[in-house]
Amino acid sequence: MGTQKKTSSSSEASEAPVIILQEDHLISPQRIDRDALKVLSRLQDAGHTAYLVGGGVRDLYMDKEPKDFDISTSARPGELRKLFRNSRTIGRRFRLVQIFFPGNHIIEVSTFRCRSEYDLEGTDKLLQSNNTFGSQVDDAFRRDLTINALMYDIKDGSILDYTGGVEDLKSRLIRIIGDPDRRITRDPVRMLRAVRHAARSDFSIEEQTWKAIQKHRAKLNLCPVSRIRDELLKDLRGGASRKWVELALDSGLFGELFPFYNDLLLKGKDNLKYRQELVAALAVADRLHEKGNCIPEYMLIGLLLLPWAMYTFPVLANSTDQNRGDAYAMSLTIRKKLDINLLHLNLKKETREQIAGLLSHIPLFASNDGGTWPNWLSKKSYFKERSHFYMMYREAGGGKPVKALIVPRTSAKPKLKKKRGSSGGGRNPVFSRKEQKGGVFGFKR
Ligand code: ATP
Ligand code: MG
Repeated sequence: MGTQKKTSSSSEASEAPVIILQEDHLISPQRIDRDALKVLSRLQDAGHTAYLVGGGVRDLYMDKEPKDFDISTSARPGELRKLFRNSRTIGRRFRLVQIFFPGNHIIEVSTFRCRSEYDLEGTDKLLQSNNTFGSQVDDAFRRDLTINALMYDIKDGSILDYTGGVEDLKSRLIRIIGDPDRRITRDPVRMLRAVRHAARSDFSIEEQTWKAIQKHRAKLNLCPVSRIRDELLKDLRGGASRKWVELALDSGLFGELFPFYNDLLLKGKDNLKYRQELVAALAVADRLHEKGNCIPEYMLIGLLLLPWAMYTFPVLANSTDQNRGDAYAMSLTIRKKLDINLLHLNLKKETREQIAGLLSHIPLFASNDGGTWPNWLSKKSYFKERSHFYMMYREAGGGKPVKALIVPRTSAKPKLKKKRGSSGGGRNPVFSRKEQKGGVFGFKR
């Protein structure tokens, strides 16, 4: 058979890899990005060990198109910089080398990293700076999920599996590598990553991993807000936000991300109805994403807030004669609520204004929805974004599908000059506790 050594699929996997030979999997070099192949061969020719790793191998194994092709190597950042002149070193949490190719194409290469977090005593410590290098085995075990820890060798087309990832891919299981309690405590963002990949691939979450997520969900609040926001947007844009929201709700992660929603979605007597509405709103995003549309951040968050807005401001769903003045007044009221409810996400003021604008103008568009839009409305600077949002709202409620999304990524308003120290840079650790010390791997010192 294809595997050269048997191992358990559990996180107690052995340190010797299972090797899956070329003839026993679907990955062929033709499906690997040409620039990534160039990097891999140059590294190997220079005497280094180098593998294709992470999501690229996972996706190719499942016969999917990878989003990116990451490389892990024994070469140190300095050696990489010498080998690839057109490169730069990036990363605060850990150093990566980006190699530039024509057409703005970038290949990211990381040096094998150590397993320092496994040596920390106790289950309550956050992970310290992780720029210490390690062996390729260490590099596999320091990764988040078993399915993300496979290494593909271009020399002979084999896959090296140290953590039982291939078995988990076959069983369609998401499993955190090692002791999930510890691994989540070291980096709580791994909970979001586990839920994301379960949603995206339609995999189940392995029991110990699932229990650990439920147990440690509140630890999300220790992560820097920029990381949480980035992860959230990836989930909303990934094309599986519908499945994501269900898992996020069931695991309790959604309640940590949007506590103001808890009464409505978890406790309220109509919680199932609101949950269905939320799923329906995100289904519109998934459908549009599938068709290649890129929905801007403010619209995605607007969609996510629809059931809450309809509940909190019943006039949004019921009013049939909203005029422009009413819509403006409503946008200010909604803005005030958003300033409180979304404070922890550290969204730009402009984004919060845009979201309030989208939600507040639903009745205005509903009352003018008669096949063609009146001239005065279609001339408004906000027309494109708000009419599209209204149509998404209409689709979520069972109406006609939105054809295509042609909306500006930012508002029509000119950009305000940013004040020094203002939010929006995403560096503000709103989620981390002031007294939290140490830790660079996603945690603020
Ligand atoms: P995508 O298809 O979204 O790119 P991905 O798994 O490749 O999925 P990346 O964010 O590109 O996600 O990360 C690349 C790899 O780095 C992952 O596959 C995983 O092995 C590792 N990784 C990412 N985040 C973490 C983390 N928080 N802890 C441990 N390993 C991580
Ligand atoms: Mg990736």
